[in-house]
Amino acid sequence: MSENLNPFAIAQAQLDAAAEILQLDPQMHAFLREPMREFHFSIPVHMDDGHVEIFKGFRVQYNDARGPAKGGIRFHPDETIDTVRALAAWMTWKTAVVDLPLGGGKGGVICNPREMSQGELERLSRAFMRNIARYVGITQDVPAPDVNTNAQIMSWMVDEYEVLMGHREPGVITGKPMELGGSAGRPPATAMGGIFTIREAARLIGLPLEGATCAIQGYGNVGSFAHKLATEVLGMKVVAVSDEFGGIYNSQGLDYDSVFAHVKSTGRVPGYPGAESVTNSDLLELEVDVLIPGAIENQITGQNADRIKARILAELANGPTTPEADEILAAKNIYIIPDFLCNAGGVTVSYFEMVQNAQQFYWDEGMINDRLDRKMTTAFHAVHNMAQSKKVSNRVAAYLVAVDRVARAVRWRGWV
Ligand code: NAD
Repeated sequence: MSENLNPFAIAQAQLDAAAEILQLDPQMHAFLREPMREFHFSIPVHMDDGHVEIFKGFRVQYNDARGPAKGGIRFHPDETIDTVRALAAWMTWKTAVVDLPLGGGKGGVICNPREMSQGELERLSRAFMRNIARYVGITQDVPAPDVNTNAQIMSWMVDEYEVLMGHREPGVITGKPMELGGSAGRPPATAMGGIFTIREAARLIGLPLEGATCAIQGYGNVGSFAHKLATEVLGMKVVAVSDEFGGIYNSQGLDYDSVFAHVKSTGRVPGYPGAESVTNSDLLELEVDVLIPGAIENQITGQNADRIKARILAELANGPTTPEADEILAAKNIYIIPDFLCNAGGVTVSYFEMVQNAQQFYWDEGMINDRLDRKMTTAFHAVHNMAQSKKVSNRVAAYLVAVDRVARAVRWRGWV
């Protein structure tokens, strides 16, 4: 039978496993299995050629017991409500595992931004904000960038919101440029948070990181910063990187500055001189110390899990490993840093951005990284200790820590 790769079915199956161990009562389990609220919008946008295109958009507020919902907005041709639901659920567990006073949400628009002009993108971004404006805000729900959305799109959205409301409220959106109240250290934050967890995992399993080998799938915001920081902060040798077009490998290590310059000028990883080609599937199976999936979902499945050879699997992407793969990896003594722990650095610095916006007082990058390190290291050990004490995988342990925190907040509120 083929694996069910519907991300929401996977998110629910992961919750079910945690609920059983936590012995959640059936009502609490049923409540946490579904989003609390979701909004579906039809969004008309005037296109450059004069016709009106109707886009479909979603915002899911999965759970806000611990604080305002928090989560990005994706623009993607293959967006589905189930992807948005799954990502909103993972945001709920992610903000809880790093103990931020926030809930979880996610948004998306079915569109192909690569085929849209800047003017069309601006009109779509502003129209999306007009649709969600009454449901978001610093006390309700705070969106951010995600796949195919960026600081420019966040700027249009925050501007639209402030025009509608008649006052400045920069904290309604994070991932803004510095000029509009963005935070120092936000662009590298997801990768930086992951680097702190790799450092802790390596200490635990006795792996010296200086000169250790690393392969990274994906070379966008997360993957390219992971290359830079794995080299600069941990002293690792990054031997392979890839993007959607393919990968490159050099056993002597790939120099970050020149690979990054190559990707910037050509728009793709393959074609970099001084390295062999490697496919995305071969990259995952390389004999490296640390493997970082930093691209998309469902990359490590029942089909290839038994060929993964890394000692640490640091999941910077969301949902890169399927439940069937998890079972196979569990028998292989690979130290897995599960996605919503490993990649929580982004939302943590987004939270710092909200705090700075509220205070109208801004911190430097050193302070951001110190505070990020403390949050990530504390969360890492909470999950590791839970895994040890309950004799479960790190992924299940991350769910146990997070779901328990959310359930407690729900109970204190008297909802269930
Ligand atoms: P991005 O759009 O900047 O980059 C995505 C990269 O993945 C690109 O290099 C693209 O070419 C590559 N890619 C796409 N399809 C691929 C495929 N089939 N095989 C190999 N590579 C492929 O996105 P990002 O912000 O770097 O996000 C990457 C992952 O990290 C996503 O799962 C995202 O949800 C997750 N994440 C991102 C953040 C953040 O702050 N950006 C935070 C938490 C989690």
